[in-house]
This record gives sequence, C-alpha cells and structure tokens, in this order.
Amino acid sequence: MPKKIVKKGKKPHKNKKTSKKYTKYKIEGDKVTRSRFCPRCGPGVFLMDSQGRFYCGKCHYSEFKSKEEMKK
Ligand SMILES: [Zn+2]
Repeated sequence: MPKKIVKKGKKPHKNKKTSKKYTKYKIEGDKVTRSRFCPRCGPGVFLMDSQGRFYCGKCHYSEFKSKEEMKK
C-alpha cells in the first residue's frame, strides 16, 4: 500500500476581516461623534452595545443604559 502523502507547510492564507471600528463613528458636519468609549480603557476602546447596556470587551466594564437611551 502506498503511503498517503500529507502535505505539510503553510496553510492557505485567508484574508482577515477588516476592522469595523470605523462604523462606530458618525460624522455630523465637521464633528465626529462617537459611540461610547470605555471610561477605564479610555478613548479608542468602544463599548459594545448589548441588551440595554454597554460592555467593554477589553476590561469587562459594563454600563447600564439610562432609560432615555433605551427609548431610542
Ligand atoms: Zn474597558
């Protein structure tokens, strides 16, 4: 029985998804308004908008939305 030839080496390169960070920015006129930043990590780290609260994936900070924000 001939041995199975198993190719070794680099796996085929897959393109990584591009960062969607820019989608968090809204441009209103000359101002760039941002969604929430993490108060712990500082500007640049966005809080994830999830089920009525904001959540930081970096430091696991979470912040509950105010009632006014829930209405939107
Ligand atoms: Zn954080």
